[in-house]
Amino acid sequence: MTQLDQTPDVVVIGGGPAGSTTATMLARKGVRVLLLERDRFPRHHVGESLLPASMPVLEELGVMPAMEKAGFLPKYGATMVWGKDSTPWSWYFRETSRQYPSSFQVSRPEFDQLLLENSRANGVDVREGCRVVEIHSNGGKTTGVGYVSDDGTAGSAHCSLVVDASGQGGILGRTLNLRRYDPFFQNLAVYAYFEGAQRLPQPDETNIFIESYSNGWFWNIPLHTGQTGVGVVVDSKTGQQGIQEFGLEGFLTRQISQAPHTAEMLRNARLTEGPFVVKDWSYTCEPMVGDGHILVGDAACFVDPLFSSGVHLALMGGVMAAALAATTLKGSDIAKPAGRVYEELYLQEYRHFREMARLFYTSNLNADSYFWEARRLLGGDETFSPRHAFIQAVAGQPPRGYERVVLEQGQAPEGFSHSVKAVEDERAFRRAKLEAALDQTDGKEPAIYQAVPCLSPEVSIERQPVLGEGEFVWGQVITSGGGSSGNGQSTPCSPLVAMLVSQIDGVTPVADLLAGLVQGRDENQAAQIAQSVLTALQILYVDGSIEEMKGL
Ligand SMILES: Cc1cc2nc3c(=O)[nH]c(=O)nc-3n(C[C@H](O)[C@H](O)[C@H](O)COP(=O)(O)OP(=O)(O)OC[C@H]3O[C@@H](n4cnc5c(N)ncnc54)[C@H](O)[C@@H]3O)c2cc1C
Repeated sequence: MTQLDQTPDVVVIGGGPAGSTTATMLARKGVRVLLLERDRFPRHHVGESLLPASMPVLEELGVMPAMEKAGFLPKYGATMVWGKDSTPWSWYFRETSRQYPSSFQVSRPEFDQLLLENSRANGVDVREGCRVVEIHSNGGKTTGVGYVSDDGTAGSAHCSLVVDASGQGGILGRTLNLRRYDPFFQNLAVYAYFEGAQRLPQPDETNIFIESYSNGWFWNIPLHTGQTGVGVVVDSKTGQQGIQEFGLEGFLTRQISQAPHTAEMLRNARLTEGPFVVKDWSYTCEPMVGDGHILVGDAACFVDPLFSSGVHLALMGGVMAAALAATTLKGSDIAKPAGRVYEELYLQEYRHFREMARLFYTSNLNADSYFWEARRLLGGDETFSPRHAFIQAVAGQPPRGYERVVLEQGQAPEGFSHSVKAVEDERAFRRAKLEAALDQTDGKEPAIYQAVPCLSPEVSIERQPVLGEGEFVWGQVITSGGGSSGNGQSTPCSPLVAMLVSQIDGVTPVADLLAGLVQGRDENQAAQIAQSVLTALQILYVDGSIEEMKGL
């Protein structure tokens, strides 16, 4: 039996965080979206621990009241047994973000359902129990999907755009053979849910707890249901052999007994759900955007779960995929370059989390075993030079958050630590120099006005698509170090900053640059522009985009 063909504007495959976010954001723009989800919600899913970086997206989706009503536990940070010593240590999001000092530990069946209901409320045609089994294409362009619902009915949908948000299953990536596995992260995870587990002492009661031990590492996530999610990440081969020998539960129990903190927390606990096993290999799909389709969430890429980055990537990716879809549906010239920017932004985030995880794995010194030795050796591979690692991990910025923790608690590769120190010293020196040049002493004009800025040879202004209000629009970006396609950075900037940078020629002093920029403006506007220009010069000089201020 075949259902009537459907003709929405966009088909979204999968109703996890990536799919529901994409669908909601698109439907709000008046796009007709059909979302096909294989399962019926609530359905089980791993991945309970969220990052504060997701909070703005959750706010934008309008689900915060529902999140609070659900009673999810707040997550203020992480407590870890990792690095140089075996005593647990904690760090808190408030150390790096005042605006978002916490996130949530969510029960995924509830969280994902809440997001999917929000899609429905925003006008998405959500069909649960509908598995996409076929991708339709015509002359290399994706044109729709074929699906089967759980009562056996077949259907098909023809559309302008297919968004693949089908998670690790990644139907489009597999069909088109786009997936590239990462040789460094080929792990396996076994996890289960327990009742009656002991929690960390206050104030860390709701932190995620991570314990490294000889065969890998454990996570322990307290949930508002009273359950605790506990999982272990081990080498793929070791895990497979162990599971074959002892069975899933036997294997998990044996691993728990080797991790003293986790074992103690679970001493009086009762297993209530699971264990489950999941392949935990990192990968990217390239390209993530093709003719008639976009990949998002785990369907686009997956990075080791050490930093709980999966849901963040799915939500952030969902916002970007919706913007790209909206731009593409308009059929304008910007769509193709916007697709490249989408992929570059996505890979930038992927590389950051990947590099942080790699640094953590290679710098854990409190466990000696095959698992850790193999990761330390791989981490020292030529293709991952310390300098490369530094750029990927912190994008040339001073290390914050987890990056800082690696330096303090672990033993980062020597070259990495040197790079960090060199950058920090240079930035502090430049900041002090510029502050002195902005000082107005004895009624004299600050020295900065006569200084001549010279751009670093790697820096340029490019016209590129940037993420605007729900779609990609043309904007200006400052690119450095090979731009977004290499290991460098691409930062969107205001028209004023773009104009300033494009006029820096290595011979014109700041006073003349300013005079040109304020020409024709009244006194008030001129003062505001001057202030903004001086601030921009300061930022560009400290971050190295301006290589030199001649005359200072
Ligand atoms: C061991 C482990 C631990 C993790 N821990 C964390 C964590 O603590 N925090 C965190 O943020 N992330 C974590 N993650 C990652 C996180 O689970 C994922 O990144 C996140 O769920 C991705 O969301 P998504 O929407 O892309 O995919 P999913 O959430 O997987 O959603 C995909 C949806 O597509 C549906 N689907 C699949 N195929 C089809 C089809 N053919 N037709 C229709 N529907 C289909 C599925 O049923 C599913 O509902 C972890 C991952 C692993 C492996």
